[in-house]
Amino acid sequence: MSKITVAIDGYSSCGKSTLAKALAQKLNYNYIDTGAMYRAVTIYCLRNGIIQKSIVNQKKLMDCLSDIEVSFRYNTVTKTSEVFLNGEHVEKEIRTMEVANHVSAISSIKEVREKMVILQREMGKHKGVIMDGRDIGTHVFPYAELKLFMTADNDVRTQRRLDELSSKGEYHTFEDVKRNLEKRDHDDTTRKENPLIKAEDAVVLDNTDINKEEQLEFVMKLIEDLLLTKDEFNQAPSKH
Ligand code: C5P
Repeated sequence: MSKITVAIDGYSSCGKSTLAKALAQKLNYNYIDTGAMYRAVTIYCLRNGIIQKSIVNQKKLMDCLSDIEVSFRYNTVTKTSEVFLNGEHVEKEIRTMEVANHVSAISSIKEVREKMVILQREMGKHKGVIMDGRDIGTHVFPYAELKLFMTADNDVRTQRRLDELSSKGEYHTFEDVKRNLEKRDHDDTTRKENPLIKAEDAVVLDNTDINKEEQLEFVMKLIEDLLLTKDEFNQAPSKH
């Protein structure tokens, strides 16, 4: 059966990775969380004094950029690819609020994006990939067979994020988490370099009032229809 590329973009904490992981497992595709890559670079910057008092020292970052190696390794227990920074497993650390508060400043830097996009295209070059982020359908894989643009009500997203953080032992107020989401959305949609915008041919998925199972079923139907059409097309006898 043919393989396709699924590009999932959308606002912060609207369930992109939950959907992407479920799709990848159902289809036996690779899941690539591109946000994790920008978060890993942010950890490097926080640890190495490139971000100080929330200010990014761009000169220092440019000098170190070639030393930052971001990669994924498949975890057979969690059944997902997990992110590594210079060989160190940082999957847990990337999810902290400290990283969330600084990642948009790092992801707005052209050279950082260029480096990450090269890796993303390489990882997706054989198709059979579900990739989520902010610029996947518009920039990384503009020819992806399926593009989704995800959104949900801000309060619903905030509550989901709050629950996720507290399940990991990080406790914050609703207002702090909401402020972080809204600020990231603002920064991500207004930055100069490949901002978050809906690709013209993306399907909008607002999951404010639908559950994970309904969402998965809806998207699987889209994918099955696409695969069917693709395979029928490939099998059609040539007219020449
Ligand atoms: O998806 P996640 O919330 O983990 O992404 C963290 C941040 O990484 C986003 O707020 C955005 O600034 C950046 N990002 C990006 N482009 C992507 C994926 C994430 O700029 N493709």
